[in-house]
Amino acid sequence: MPILSISNTEVHIEKMLNPTFLQLSEKDDLTATKPIYLKGMIYPVDQWICIQAEIHATLQLPCATCNEPVSIDISLPKWTHQEERDSINHTCWDLSQPLREAILVEVPFLAYCGNRTCHNRKEIEKFLHKTSQQNGHQPFANLQISRTT
Ligand SMILES: [Zn+2]
Repeated sequence: MPILSISNTEVHIEKMLNPTFLQLSEKDDLTATKPIYLKGMIYPVDQWICIQAEIHATLQLPCATCNEPVSIDISLPKWTHQEERDSINHTCWDLSQPLREAILVEVPFLAYCGNRTCHNRKEIEKFLHKTSQQNGHQPFANLQISRTT
């Protein structure tokens, strides 16, 4: 868990976090296999406690076309977050929730095994085309015949 200690002065941190705090479930299709890197500093400003850090995470998502796992690198070079000091336990700061949100918001909606496209797309299209011709319901198959020019 990303629980960091806080004090009255600036504290430098560098941590490899176990990704379990992301709370990814299998139904999300999203997995984290590597630890999450966090490096930066925690510092107090008036009644606030602030963190500025870089985050690096590697997540896996299935390819939107062929379903093969795709690695996604997420880098946040200057992530900042602050909370009121009174709302935090005296010496420990649990950053699970804000870190989770910061990382998950960067995950793309769709991922492809070939970066912007699917490596296996041609193969899959062939297959899809064949099955739709054989079994698919094609309500517009005869449309061209009735069209007048
Ligand atoms: Zn693919």
